[in-house]
Amino acid sequence: MFESQYNDEMEAEVKRLEAKMRAINAGHPEWINACVACGCELADINTDRCAQCL
Ligand SMILES: [Zn+2]
Repeated sequence: MFESQYNDEMEAEVKRLEAKMRAINAGHPEWINACVACGCELADINTDRCAQCL
């Protein structure tokens, strides 16, 4: 139970960091996420592409 919750939190943290790296790579470290293809801002960290690039 605890381990499962711990893994979920780790996974969420990894997603958050990956999203942040995309934002930094796009030249906008203040964003929480950015599209990996066109570099536009994304508000959802659970994706790596905007609606236009999907
Ligand atoms: Zn895009």
